Amino acid sequence: MIDDQSAKGVFELLSLHDYGEVHFALDPATQLRAIVAIHDTQLGPALGGSRFISYASEQAALIDALRLARAMTSKAALARLAHGGGKAVLIRPEGEFDRAALFTSFARAVDGLGGRYITTEDSGTSIEDMEVVRKRTRHVCGFDVSNGGSGDPSPFTALGVRRGLEACVKFRLGRESLEGIRVAVQGVGNVGYHLCRELTAAGAKLIVADVRDELAQRAADELGAEIVPSAGIHRCECDVFAPCALGGALNDRTIPELRCAVVAGAANNQLASDHNGEMLRARNILYAPDYAINAGGLINVAQEVAGYDADKARARTLLIYDTILEICERSAKQGEPPNRVADAMVREILQAKR
Ligand code: NAD
Repeated sequence: MIDDQSAKGVFELLSLHDYGEVHFALDPATQLRAIVAIHDTQLGPALGGSRFISYASEQAALIDALRLARAMTSKAALARLAHGGGKAVLIRPEGEFDRAALFTSFARAVDGLGGRYITTEDSGTSIEDMEVVRKRTRHVCGFDVSNGGSGDPSPFTALGVRRGLEACVKFRLGRESLEGIRVAVQGVGNVGYHLCRELTAAGAKLIVADVRDELAQRAADELGAEIVPSAGIHRCECDVFAPCALGGALNDRTIPELRCAVVAGAANNQLASDHNGEMLRARNILYAPDYAINAGGLINVAQEVAGYDADKARARTLLIYDTILEICERSAKQGEPPNRVADAMVREILQAKR
């Protein structure tokens, strides 16, 4: 976690995040203002989604792109993918704009990078936007299954989380199956819902919370989950707490209140700060590093680049079990929190490539 960066210059920010290269694209005709951050390409072309949201400032957009692309390097490396980390941030214009024209302009910018960056959908972008991008560049993926694409990444992310969660349960609780294991799922949106289905099929008991009542109710009706208020889900007595909503769920306030043995969920950036990993370890709570456990969606979309094969994507996603188990073992042996162990493993993988 790198703290206050708002007053820093562009190159200062780049070195702070270990870059890399950053490309800016401006097209006044379509109101395109895009930042493409390519953090690392040692393992292969940078792969990562395009965000299309509003930002308080250009600086905030740049920091977001840098942070997100760097996390993609870690995620791809630990998933043993032949890809580096990249991310595009398109600053959403205020007022009216022609969406197709804007994404066409963005596609030209991506194409100009010659394949060093491959884009896909992310917050604020859709499969339809990617179809527009596809008309101008081949360096894009994340299409509908009916168009030869890899489809919705969420079921694959959920599958990987279930496998990582199983590895934690085996390591920490000595249990080979999830039968009777109580899991509290925070956020039952795309990934959380699919995770709940995976967990129920494996015999786990569910506690769920969502700020959208109808989504929590769906998990209760379909899967027999117990619903609790979203403000208190992290305080529930359970075996596993699974953050599947927003980032920062594990922080100085929530960690002392946890009543679980394991934290294993899909959300990105679960630790509000790096020291929160040590806080969890001090409480003897096993934490599955977010970018290691939630790589299933990325694994799935990466298969599309090579020619989509759902069976291969599934087989690779199942390997998240081994990665998480290795992190757990190393963490116990070295007396280091799992998040630091995962970071060290990423450095090893990248160094081996140099
Ligand atoms: P989503 O928006 O579909 O689901 C998130 C859910 O969390 C929503 O239903 C929302 O109402 C709920 N929520 C928000 N704040 C909450 C709170 N305080 N308490 C309880 N519920 C709350 O998003 P998603 O695609 O399911 O992704 C979930 C998380 O997993 C995100 O952090 C995302 O970055 C991460 N992730 C997703 C994927 C993927 O394949 N979609 C892959 C990797 C990581």
